[in-house]
Amino acid sequence: MKYELVYKNGKFDKIEIESPDVLTEGAVRIRPTEVGICGSDLYSIEILPGTESLRPGHEWIGVVEESNSSSYQKGDIVTSPVSFGCQKCRSCYDGKPNNCLNNQSLGGKEIGALRNEIILQDQYLINLSHLNQEGLVLIEVAAVAEQAFLHMADLGLRAGKKDRVMIFGAGPVGLFCALKAKKEGLNYILVELDKKRIEIAKELGLNIIATGAALLKDDYHMSFDYIIDCSGDGNKKSGFWKYFLHFASVSSKLLVVGKYINEQKINSVLFTNRDVTIKWMRGLPKSVIEKAVVNWKEDLPDIGKSMITHEFSSVDVDKAFDIALRRENTGKVVVKI
Ligand SMILES: [Zn+2]
Ligand SMILES: [Zn+2]
Repeated sequence: MKYELVYKNGKFDKIEIESPDVLTEGAVRIRPTEVGICGSDLYSIEILPGTESLRPGHEWIGVVEESNSSSYQKGDIVTSPVSFGCQKCRSCYDGKPNNCLNNQSLGGKEIGALRNEIILQDQYLINLSHLNQEGLVLIEVAAVAEQAFLHMADLGLRAGKKDRVMIFGAGPVGLFCALKAKKEGLNYILVELDKKRIEIAKELGLNIIATGAALLKDDYHMSFDYIIDCSGDGNKKSGFWKYFLHFASVSSKLLVVGKYINEQKINSVLFTNRDVTIKWMRGLPKSVIEKAVVNWKEDLPDIGKSMITHEFSSVDVDKAFDIALRRENTGKVVVKI
């Protein structure tokens, strides 16, 4: 039976889906094999009204079962970006389908990657067949870090620059941002509360400090030129927003990657005095995943060993989300289909 896993009222249901016998021109039939649970899946669940249903899952890899495209053949390993883009709106015309105004994306109300069949047009796919599959499900997370650093470059950050960079939150996205900062030879520090995440960061050879210790350090006060906030405020945690002005230098640049459920305060006087620039990040185009493939393909198997802390079969999808939703003692939680 072809099915999808649909979330409603605190649990997943397995629901049969239609599977066309014949593929249209350019269509590719894929069996998703691994889906990583992302902070934004958790965010979508946490803000979901009890009466509505959701189809989580956008960090995925799968194997091609059948193809009506000359670019893909049976057995290929593929992934796709989260957002497909309508190809009609202004953002899509500008080459930014991740900012599509008619938001068509995986992990929302209509379609998610937690299913045993997905049919996508070849233009949305990325071929990963040449890569080692260990840790490959992390490719979208690596791409989020790539996208974050493109934004940071827009904000003035350059490789090898001596400016001080702080990364809030050592979940998978924060960890990849720190790995990227390390690769770029930046003067960075990662800040995290959770013991397990601190452990993972150390295993990956990253500069990391516990939040409490960072707040006590005199030379951290008002001294970071660039800050990437990968925290967010899920599971009643406060996130790092409230610490921003403590660490931000004058003319500091803040990129917000993590999602906040609650409204966060901006005190106009304080933020003005600090001459702050803030940017929010929304998604990423396919080209950035392709860039992540080039930059991270050799590292993913090792990174996966440290970062993927939990793997569940799709039968245990509820358990997988319960653990991920706690946002404690976890790195990446992966569901195998
Ligand atoms: Zn994600
Ligand atoms: Zn569009």
